[in-house]
Amino acid sequence: MALTVAQARVEAARAALAEAEAELEARSTRPVDVQLALDLHDQVSHRCDMEYCGWGWEGLDWSGSAHQRWLRAARELLELTDADTALRVAPVVRRLL
Ligand SMILES: [Zn+2]
Repeated sequence: MALTVAQARVEAARAALAEAEAELEARSTRPVDVQLALDLHDQVSHRCDMEYCGWGWEGLDWSGSAHQRWLRAARELLELTDADTALRVAPVVRRLL
């Protein structure tokens, strides 16, 4: 393996590590309902595949209707159970959609 290839792999790994650390930091500072809404959307939204979810168009605008819909769902779930349990159930529900 040429040194430049190895250097490129090291740089790519460092970039991936920095991205993962930034995500961990962000997760630790977000409110639990917001984090659950993000995770639920990532795991369950099948509409994104069909480009009519609206989430992507809203960016990180939590006042948008798509973000509000997922945030309401997260809050409803948090009244019933904890975020970890909700996220364990989500993939099962997605398979039904
Ligand atoms: Zn979506």
